Amino acid sequence: MKYPHTHYLAHALLLARDALENDNFPIGAVLVDAEGTVIGADHNRNAETNHRLQHAEIRVLQEAHLPHASSDTALTLYTSLEPCPMCFGAVVVARIARVVWACRDPFGGAGIIADFWPWPHLRVPEFIAEPDPALQKESHRLLMDYFIHNERDDLLAAWRPLAE
Ligand SMILES: [Zn+2]
Repeated sequence: MKYPHTHYLAHALLLARDALENDNFPIGAVLVDAEGTVIGADHNRNAETNHRLQHAEIRVLQEAHLPHASSDTALTLYTSLEPCPMCFGAVVVARIARVVWACRDPFGGAGIIADFWPWPHLRVPEFIAEPDPALQKESHRLLMDYFIHNERDDLLAAWRPLAE
């Protein structure tokens, strides 16, 4: 790996900011190979595409070249927010080795699925959650900005205590 986790997480957060500026839910994702080269980077585009499945992680995994016959599992996915169940499933199917997220999501994050994973032949990736407090705060702040902008007082109230 060329750089520390914080380098790639900061990249994911820049993408999350881009998402927010285009009225998308603020999530960014960056896929990195074993040498530390970025092979995919994108953000949520639900608003731009008017499609519910256009999450950052799904878009990045589809953008990257992940050949069918390859057994390479040395890829790391960096996300600004803990992946949802759909993206978690895609990560497992794509045989991603490691997922690092800047901010946990207690309301939709799928990391807890690993605790009761019933399929021994489908490998759960290694998780690294919230490795940097400053980046966690930045991701949280982007979410709060989104909720404020979209007048989601319910989500604002739910998320606000997590940064305190
Ligand atoms: Zn997702």
